[in-house]
Amino acid sequence: MSACFCPACGHRLDGFEDFQCPSCQFTGSDSLRWFPFQAPALERISDHTHRLTRSEYQKIDSAITAFERKFPQFALAFVSVDLPPNTSLRVFAFWLLNASPCADSHAEARRSWTILLVASTSGEWALAPGYSAEAWLDARDWQTLLTRVENLSNQKSLAHAVVGFTRDCRTCLQEAWLKTQKRLSSRSARRSKNTAGPPP
Ligand SMILES: [Zn+2]
Repeated sequence: MSACFCPACGHRLDGFEDFQCPSCQFTGSDSLRWFPFQAPALERISDHTHRLTRSEYQKIDSAITAFERKFPQFALAFVSVDLPPNTSLRVFAFWLLNASPCADSHAEARRSWTILLVASTSGEWALAPGYSAEAWLDARDWQTLLTRVENLSNQKSLAHAVVGFTRDCRTCLQEAWLKTQKRLSSRSARRSKNTAGPPP
């Protein structure tokens, strides 16, 4: 399990809720000042810049369905936006994930398991995992996922990059899950060895 990272400067944090980053002093409520609007509800796919064709939209939707079938706890969301220059896409993604209204307590609980991927028209990408989701991968894995989706979008279409991201995310979480399983089983093997009775 990893720590969390400041959405403004990337500094490693010990906690997430009510944090103040010791490096840049960013707090969660700063993002509300940076973006003083009503955040839209978080949909699975929000193509605000109309960059996806109908068939591309469906391809992404199917890829997310396949991902969520494999990891039902997690949710994936993709948003395309056009932001004014010099706006931090990373803080925008953080704000959107946390300020979007939820219909009910189930949706609210799901927010912390949501992995939000944001693409801007300037070609920049940002990732905002909810705090339960973030803890499953370490910082290097999240960075690798981001770099891969950036590379994919440089080579191929936006839809191709997002579908590739869902696949990479699946692989990464699968590996993290196997590692956790391995650690738990070796710990329980150690414990049963320690609690075994004296040899006859
Ligand atoms: Zn910071």
